[in-house]
Amino acid sequence: MTILEHKVLVTGAAGYLASWVVKYLLDEGHTVHATVRALSDRKKVQHLLDFAERFPNKLSLFEADLLDEGSFDQAMSGCSVVIHTASPYYLDKPKDPQAQLVQPALSGTLNVLASVNKTTTVKRVVLTSSIVALYNDACDVSDATNHTVQESGINPNRDIGHNPYAYSKTIAEQAAWGMQKKQSRWDMVTIHPGAIFGPSLSKRADATSIGMMVQFLNGSFRTGVPRLWLGTVDVRDVAAAHVRAAVLPMAHGRYILVAQSLTLLEISKLFRLDGLGIKDKLPKGEVYKMLIWLIAPYVGMQRDYVSCNVNFPIYFDSERSKQELGIRYRQPAETFNDHIRQIADDGLLHAHSGKPGLAT
Ligand code: NAP
Repeated sequence: MTILEHKVLVTGAAGYLASWVVKYLLDEGHTVHATVRALSDRKKVQHLLDFAERFPNKLSLFEADLLDEGSFDQAMSGCSVVIHTASPYYLDKPKDPQAQLVQPALSGTLNVLASVNKTTTVKRVVLTSSIVALYNDACDVSDATNHTVQESGINPNRDIGHNPYAYSKTIAEQAAWGMQKKQSRWDMVTIHPGAIFGPSLSKRADATSIGMMVQFLNGSFRTGVPRLWLGTVDVRDVAAAHVRAAVLPMAHGRYILVAQSLTLLEISKLFRLDGLGIKDKLPKGEVYKMLIWLIAPYVGMQRDYVSCNVNFPIYFDSERSKQELGIRYRQPAETFNDHIRQIADDGLLHAHSGKPGLAT
């Protein structure tokens, strides 16, 4: 099947996930307009500048901030597709969740979509949401068939103090659908990934996914981990899903992106650490829920999160992504070991992520 070449805007292009989206779009021959917060921040954008050299006249970089109205207008000009990934991703509770999470997620999405409404060339928007926009806590899913989350769910929580990141993703997605339904020129596809892992294209260590892997490898979880299930997925598969959602005319609605649900201990047992000299850093076992609950505030977790998520299995139905987007998920062992190799090769084994926390 021949796929039309598109001009695609990618927001937050220097991010962990978006960098792979940009790479795959360029690999497929599309033209990419990529927004970053600061072009002068070489540490964040150098790999994008390298892409621009490797794909002459195919990648243009623009500065834009989620909080500035009209900030995306120039970068969006002439684009047929907008892939909106930019949104702050912190799992620990920030000091000011409204300012640090909700405002950029919600106002940022509305700003980007206001530019879409003004840009008549845009026909499709792909929004990066999350599985956390589909359910509140794992305990709420315990009555569902096989403890499985479906794409039809909407996280009912409207308390910013409870899982503020999940709240930010939920209300941003719902507001986006509200705007989309008011017109008929552009349609929208939302992507709902689980916890993303896999190699990063930049040496940044401040993405939460990278921080969590670094925590596994630097001994932060050595004494033990909670019995907590994560719906895991490879960053390359999530990026491929964004590209398919951007170009396949029949793509529609919401797509869960999860390869497999695993407990934190199961994840650590997949790690191959030969030659890295860090085998003693991995979790020794699982810690009793009561103990986790007691220490939660001191390790960046919320007690109500522990109560409703630890010891509750949770699974995700990602069948639509396989059937309609053609995603063939990588095995988690490949995802985690490719990620570990990249972290070691980039000298980040002992990096401080600056964004600790396991909640959500
Ligand atoms: P990331 O590397 O931290 O990417 C977040 C991006 O958002 C960065 O490029 C960041 O810009 C940008 N951003 C934040 N605040 C901004 C602002 N005020 N103005 C403009 N840009 C801003 O994290 P990621 O994991 O790739 O996350 C990408 C998307 O995937 C997010 O929407 C996240 O919610 C979603 N998601 C992630 C996971 C996961 O496990 N990683 C799972 C589900 C959904 P800078 O580059 O300047 O910092």
